Amino acid sequence: MITGKTNVVGVIGDPVEHSLSPPMHNAAFKHLKMDYVYVPYHVKKGMLSDAIAGSKSLNIKGLNVTIPHKTNVIKYLDELDKSAELIGAVNTIKFDGNHAKGYNTDGIGAVKAIEEVNSVKNKKVIILGAGGAARAISFQIIMDGAESIVIANRTAANAEQLQRDLVEKLNANVKSIDLGEKLEIELSNADILINTTPIGMYPNVDQEPLVKAELMHENLVVKDCVYNPLQTGLIKEAEKCNAKVVSGLKMLIYQGMEAFRIWTGVTPPLEIFERSLKGQFE
Ligand code: NAD
Repeated sequence: MITGKTNVVGVIGDPVEHSLSPPMHNAAFKHLKMDYVYVPYHVKKGMLSDAIAGSKSLNIKGLNVTIPHKTNVIKYLDELDKSAELIGAVNTIKFDGNHAKGYNTDGIGAVKAIEEVNSVKNKKVIILGAGGAARAISFQIIMDGAESIVIANRTAANAEQLQRDLVEKLNANVKSIDLGEKLEIELSNADILINTTPIGMYPNVDQEPLVKAELMHENLVVKDCVYNPLQTGLIKEAEKCNAKVVSGLKMLIYQGMEAFRIWTGVTPPLEIFERSLKGQFE
């Protein structure tokens, strides 16, 4: 029940109506008997400054930030956590009175999901795509001890920019390549392949994945960031050659659990987040 003492957290985005975060967080608040509610807020471009100032005025405790605000929101915040600063994007804000601190839990979510099947330490990683998710994951995976990263992207300039940032900020061992023959060569001795492009995402479920089973091997861990559908074309290809697979849903769950912890100091149970999403994709 919402009372006069209920704490409010939420998500801002445009659009926001398809967000899966409200059921996850509200299920955990209920399970843990915490007096919190998680609310979606549709915030259009141009209204971001008002949304952050308004959140402070309304004593909102925390927000998730989704497309298209992850980068632009930074200029309205008072402080950034180290990884949000390195990545250059924020997906979680914690308000403490009039003070707003930005975090990025996407990379942490991805690494935790991968580490359910294999450690990322000393691994050779290939990342498909060079957008927001690629930035978050590449910085986090290097900070967590990956040996090297190859960024394979359609637009060379974006991959090269991410490469320069990783070298400059973390002195990372990183290469950028296109999606052609060089990718085939890199795949033959890679440990982890991560798709951060939206290829295969609903409603384009029949879109051809960037890597087919012939180029994978059974010691490869294949992780997709796309979570709708749960079984993407890339995951199906990986299963054909017995590679280990990590769904995008696990990343979504772990990034949300980390945001919950940042706001409340409590780590919610994984099963509660998982159970709240059952039936969302049928
Ligand atoms: P973005 O737009 O910032 O980056 C997308 C990247 O994919 C770009 O580098 C672009 O060049 C590349 N790309 C797009 N279409 C392509 C195509 N047809 N062929 C080759 N490359 C293509 O997007 P983002 O914020 O990085 O998100 C990417 C995906 O990751 C989305 O599907 C998003 O839903 C998903 N995501 C999932 C989670 C999660 O928790 N599971 C978190 C963040 C993002």
